[in-house]
Amino acid sequence: MFTGGCRCGAVRYRISADPVATRMCWCRDCQYWAAGNATINLIVRRDALQVDGLPSSYDSLADSGHHMRRSFCGRCGSALFSQAQENADFLVVRAGSLDQPDQFAPQSVIWTDSAPAWAVIDASLPAFPRQPG
Ligand SMILES: [Zn+2]
Ligand SMILES: [Zn+2]
Repeated sequence: MFTGGCRCGAVRYRISADPVATRMCWCRDCQYWAAGNATINLIVRRDALQVDGLPSSYDSLADSGHHMRRSFCGRCGSALFSQAQENADFLVVRAGSLDQPDQFAPQSVIWTDSAPAWAVIDASLPAFPRQPG
């Protein structure tokens, strides 16, 4: 069980199962959501998530071709979740919203092709130029 929420506390969540994967993502969309950096993402089973409060959302077509819904706090703007319409059993949780952000370190780096030239990419992690298959 782990917990998190947005900066202002309007949205809180609990997750009852460990993530199936933890990734750093440099896709162009993530650079918008993370104000220039990569996002750090936990992939969790959708049925393990319980949310209190109502996040705002934005739908877009990702570089992967997936139809993504991104959720964030409409009051403080904190990034919280994203979910692909094509992969409804799983949800992506933004690690910055965790109550204990050092709980899950990224295990791989994806979309390195889109990273800026100055990006620092941990050479000890598996890296994928685009979305891994
Ligand atoms: Zn908030
Ligand atoms: Zn991304």
